[in-house]
Amino acid sequence: MISSMITVNFTQLANRLDGHYGPEDLVLLERAFTFAQAAHEGQTRTTGEPYFTHPFAVALKLADLKLPSNVIAAGLLHDVPEDTERTVEDIAAEFGDDIASMVGAITKLGKVKYRGEERYIENLRKMFVAMAEDVRVVFIKFADRMHNMETLYALPEHKRLRIANEVLEIYAPIANRLGMGEYRGLFEDYSFKYLEPKDYSWTKHLLEERVKKFGPSLDRAMKHVSNELHRHSVGYVDIHGRVKHCYSLYRKLQKYKNDMSKVYDIVAMRVIVKDVTDCYAVLGILHGVYTPLPGRIKDYIAQPKPNGYQSLHTTVFDESGSILEFQIRTQAMHEESEYGVAAHWRYKQGATREERNVEWMEELARIQKELSTNDFMAHLNELKLDMFRDRIFVFTPKGDVIDLPEESTPIDMAYAIHTEIGNKVAQAKINGEIASLDRALKSGDMCELIIDKNRKMPNKDWLKFVKTRHAKSKIRSALHEAQRGLLSSLWGKMKR
Ligand code: MN
Repeated sequence: MISSMITVNFTQLANRLDGHYGPEDLVLLERAFTFAQAAHEGQTRTTGEPYFTHPFAVALKLADLKLPSNVIAAGLLHDVPEDTERTVEDIAAEFGDDIASMVGAITKLGKVKYRGEERYIENLRKMFVAMAEDVRVVFIKFADRMHNMETLYALPEHKRLRIANEVLEIYAPIANRLGMGEYRGLFEDYSFKYLEPKDYSWTKHLLEERVKKFGPSLDRAMKHVSNELHRHSVGYVDIHGRVKHCYSLYRKLQKYKNDMSKVYDIVAMRVIVKDVTDCYAVLGILHGVYTPLPGRIKDYIAQPKPNGYQSLHTTVFDESGSILEFQIRTQAMHEESEYGVAAHWRYKQGATREERNVEWMEELARIQKELSTNDFMAHLNELKLDMFRDRIFVFTPKGDVIDLPEESTPIDMAYAIHTEIGNKVAQAKINGEIASLDRALKSGDMCELIIDKNRKMPNKDWLKFVKTRHAKSKIRSALHEAQRGLLSSLWGKMKR
């Protein structure tokens, strides 16, 4: 098979790193490369390629995000504990605790699975953020999932659909919260392609038609604008065209009842400049050359969008009378809108772990503020910054996540799932081992509940250790019911 001939070498990764990485970064990355490649030796992916092509692709994506070298190293190592003989401890011994803790967190996150049950979505999203502990782990998981989406065709259909759903419900919204526009767009488009293939190809076709039709006039406009900026001595960093993502166009079209003429930003022109003053200068120059459409000038620099997005937008008539949207922004605003939180992490090789966690907590605070403007996860804004600190997330054997207060026991979990399960639970297995019913569960535990169908009522001793008010009240009312039943049957016997 030709694909199995695909080989990777360290130079490919080294070439993707820009001048911000030093020789010590290269040394670390080459060590991680060698370690991971050896650990995955002999394994193949469903695509037929050597397994190591996957962590390698993940590392390339992290390098493209220009993240610190220890994050890229963790990307190379991310599947080692799950799929090979080497453990997180081995990684700690070889690469230190920081890299090992990122790899450990990724391994845990891998257990979070969305299987289409509405009631667990919220828990999954919360858990994703809580278990990530620091945002670098989210970046690695995103790169991991992005590569999985790129090679999703190799999986059987039921798996493709499950994963596409999970990406649309969990990954894309979180990417959006983190301001990672590029990742969000790609996540949505890959999911869209597998979930709604017909609508996807229809939208994609529309986009291609539009690009074909407007390509030449875009090229003209690009030259024209470039000349005008020169003439006014306003420098620019870059001018480029951008095409709207498929899924985002599809949603917009749905809003406008499929009327393409109402969507002005299918193809847009981006002008990247060095500072805010130049942004407004460019806007003025553009309006001198082209006639702006009334009511279409948006100043997201003075008034950023809730997720922090900044740019000037204007829609104009170009020379040929067709409508064209311009987006004007600084380089920093551009990076922020494409890479969001990840943009803040660039070039910060020297930052200490403390500093990083402070930044992550600040991001969490920002995310929370944003959540309050959005209906999904809306109630989270009532919680404090340490919103997840007193919660634990426990798996069922099927991979569902149950959100419980700290110190909760298998009995609490049983009642959280269903009253009948609570009333009839006989035994619990935690991570595969029989455990007493009063054992405190920990985040990430997998807890299996064994039911005794013949059990009549809960044990009143459970009231001594259950943690949740919900379990307490359910136990009390079940005991009460049982007592009443007992009394009335006794009463019946006495009367007879
Ligand atoms: Mn992976």
